[in-house]
Amino acid sequence: MALRVGIVRDDRYLEHKTGIIHPEHPNRLKYVYNMIDAEFSREVESIEPQLITLGDLEFVHKPEYVKKVLHTANLEFTHLAQDTPASPRTYMAAWLAAGGCITALESLRAGRYDVCFALVRPPGHHALPGRSGGFCIFNNLGITARYAMRRYGYKRILIVDWDVHHGNALQELFYREQEVLYMSSHYTNIYPFAGHWHETGVGEGEGYTVNVVLTKGIEDLDLIHVYRGVVGGAILRYRPELIMVAAGFDLHNQDIFSRAKVTEWAFGMLTRLILEFKQQIGDPPLLLALEGGYRITALVKSVREVLKALTGQAAPVKLPADRTVTGDQLLTNAYEHHSKYGVWTD
Ligand SMILES: [Zn+2]
Repeated sequence: MALRVGIVRDDRYLEHKTGIIHPEHPNRLKYVYNMIDAEFSREVESIEPQLITLGDLEFVHKPEYVKKVLHTANLEFTHLAQDTPASPRTYMAAWLAAGGCITALESLRAGRYDVCFALVRPPGHHALPGRSGGFCIFNNLGITARYAMRRYGYKRILIVDWDVHHGNALQELFYREQEVLYMSSHYTNIYPFAGHWHETGVGEGEGYTVNVVLTKGIEDLDLIHVYRGVVGGAILRYRPELIMVAAGFDLHNQDIFSRAKVTEWAFGMLTRLILEFKQQIGDPPLLLALEGGYRITALVKSVREVLKALTGQAAPVKLPADRTVTGDQLLTNAYEHHSKYGVWTD
């Protein structure tokens, strides 16, 4: 049966202007929306994002930081961080990016959709409680996880982060707790230079942060292999009540930040892999939110593959079962650091 797929989208996300040469450019979403209109208008439904309330925003962000973001509305053009510019309508996009993820969660809870993809900007996984960075202003998925915990008592949320950059702020937010299992694959020799193998959580959260440090030149099958082991294990053993994906596409080989040989095909396969595993535990809701992805052609191709997987186009597609040497090595490293906790390992 086809999944009911909701897409959070809004032209107000395009009003966050970053300057003509900034990689996190409004055209990223514009071209993605155009592709959806041309190719998926019958398969997906649009969800209009609601603004997040101040109270929900402050589940994660400090009041003085929220004020600082609001204040940018009065300025012509400014920077919240060296790499994170803000224009007069940026605050609105940021409010709607976090709000859009919460709107998606509410739609999933209401049973209107099986899966939602929040195609929002600015991205979120580097945004700390009191600080912007890495093009991120509010921590869209971090806020949504906190919201799910505080408002509805969720106790097991899995966040999978396949952006090429480590989601340092997502890790930091949930490092000491087991209500969120955060798994990221990324390079550690690029921004934010964090997310090493040995960072596995502390106290109650020990074992609930999983960092997979990718090697240069990694290929599609390597990635699928390691995800089958780690994410498959996480879904089957942790049994999340909600799965969220920090869906950045800057690992794509054509992206300016990539160090990999990964193609758009892999993102479709990772999506299928998550769908397949989650079906085995009674189909908890799935929410994807856009993070990075800066070469627009590669971004559009990657989002298309994810949507094809979600809407069942080109199905049935069998997941490749191939093991690879690099994939084995990464999985061995992951086990070395995590088997003592038994959170997701056999
Ligand atoms: Zn990124």
